[in-house]
Amino acid sequence: MDTCIFCKIINKEIPARIVYEDEHILAFEDIKPQAPIHILLIPKDHFASLNALPEDKQHLVGHIFTKARDIASEKGIKDRGYRIVLNTEKDSGQEVFHIHFHLFGGRPMTWPPG
Ligand code: 5GP
Ligand code: ZN
Repeated sequence: MDTCIFCKIINKEIPARIVYEDEHILAFEDIKPQAPIHILLIPKDHFASLNALPEDKQHLVGHIFTKARDIASEKGIKDRGYRIVLNTEKDSGQEVFHIHFHLFGGRPMTWPPG
């Protein structure tokens, strides 16, 4: 999608600190980290939010989750713990409308979330 900032990162039209990439997904550091480790994982296909993800693409979610776990392991936070967040639409605070999963770690998290 031409105007989507995350599609531009996928297409290397704007820079990002890429942590992992394959044919289907991309992981990169958040530009405004909210934790010592804050990585975004996205499918390369554009879907505005979870609400726009078709049934036949649901495997991407599992792929992203297991890759997030692997990245947590590489970053040394797998055992102490981490959090994966998917904001969906307005009430969640979603700001970028290309589905993305936040991987947070490196500090204790509070609950409930704000
Ligand atoms: P949301 O609130 O939509 O779930 O989260 C969007 C996230 O994208 C935010 O954490 C924000 O800091 C991050 N973000 C927005 N624009 C850019 C960008 O151009 N590059 C990177 N790396 N992260 C971005
Ligand atoms: Zn996009």
